[in-house]
Amino acid sequence: MADAKEVKIKKIAAAKTLRKLMADHFYELDRAVKEGRPKVAWCTSVGPAELLRAMGFVVYFPENHGAMLGATRMAAETIPAANAVGYSPDICSYLTSDVGAFLQGRTPLTDAYEGIAAIPKPDVLIYNTNQCREVLDWFAWYGQRWSKPVIGVECYRGVGEVTGVHVAGIAGQILALVEPLEKISGEKFDIDRLRETVRLSRECSDLWKEVLETAATKPSPLTFFDSTIHMAPAVVMRGTQVAVDYYRELLPELKARIADGVAAVEGERLRLYWEGMPIWGRLRDLATQFLELRACVVASTYANSWIFTALEPDDPFKSMARAYTELFIVRSDPYKEKYLKEMIDTFGVDGIVFHDSKTCPHNTNCRYAMPQRLAERLGVPSITIAGDLNDLRCYSDEQARTQIEAFVEQLSSGVAPVSNR
Ligand code: SF4
Repeated sequence: MADAKEVKIKKIAAAKTLRKLMADHFYELDRAVKEGRPKVAWCTSVGPAELLRAMGFVVYFPENHGAMLGATRMAAETIPAANAVGYSPDICSYLTSDVGAFLQGRTPLTDAYEGIAAIPKPDVLIYNTNQCREVLDWFAWYGQRWSKPVIGVECYRGVGEVTGVHVAGIAGQILALVEPLEKISGEKFDIDRLRETVRLSRECSDLWKEVLETAATKPSPLTFFDSTIHMAPAVVMRGTQVAVDYYRELLPELKARIADGVAAVEGERLRLYWEGMPIWGRLRDLATQFLELRACVVASTYANSWIFTALEPDDPFKSMARAYTELFIVRSDPYKEKYLKEMIDTFGVDGIVFHDSKTCPHNTNCRYAMPQRLAERLGVPSITIAGDLNDLRCYSDEQARTQIEAFVEQLSSGVAPVSNR
């Protein structure tokens, strides 16, 4: 085991800018609610944020708030409040921790940002069910409470090849949002403004992709745990210049690490892939354990989910439809396995850590024998950790620690099945 000095998580300097951007983001939302302008739209993580921005809304992402509840571990206290009003402990713990926090009149925003007393009240709630139906239930609860419209896009699921039929169906639904949104925002739809927003979103996505791809270098300058923090602008600010500028700052820092041979994990000896949701309340513990074991988690499906290479400013509606449908979570298992093979090859992965997230079956891919198929076809060993994104009652520190230790030892000694690459 490495000594205490060696196991320190390496800081990324751009994080200072990130903290300011996040503060600006939440203060802008808070101001909008207090002043009544611009209008506030809630949006699911891969909802039509580009359209909302182009129509003058400021956009709030409740899943980001859910992740904050998890990361601050406030979720442990708020989930029971949602359970008490009928939301099962078995459903999405973003939903239950967020609804529970609202019922308790709490938010981690208050501790993080002076003067912000509550989450921003929406004028409209826009969903895309591309990830799950839970987002609709979640938004419906708030919509009913505040008598605000809840509208959105019902997506295809289990998609193999994304065809013109899929694209036309989703593009039509996005287009149908324009009229009601014009009434709510009071602003006329402007196609050129949408094109510009889609252009910025694509640029942000391309830069984020480049950031993540720096981890293909050996040793990697970046870990999955870093990416869960630095993905924030790609999630909550896509379609803005500030998000683009942020990745223009972060990328050179990572490239400089590569040029100087600086590893995110000192003495990197193994490279792993994280499949599934982060365990928000244990990010630091897990990052430290992998660091001690000199294993770098170099890539993840989760962080890759905000790469939208299909976005095209010249064809905004159809390209948004394609980008939202090409998403990993929307796809069939054969597609997902093909995608994971590409990731394994690109990032030189030695093994996969599957997270079986109790309350998110949609972002859990180990329940239908995918790990076994990947081991058989590609020779890629894996472990499955039982846990949850926010509900730490579903996670055993002891068990996960032991499993990870044993997995890394097996990989290092060649006992686990070796990759055929
Ligand atoms: S994808 Fe999973 S974590 Fe995200 S909102 Fe849906 S159920 Fe919750």
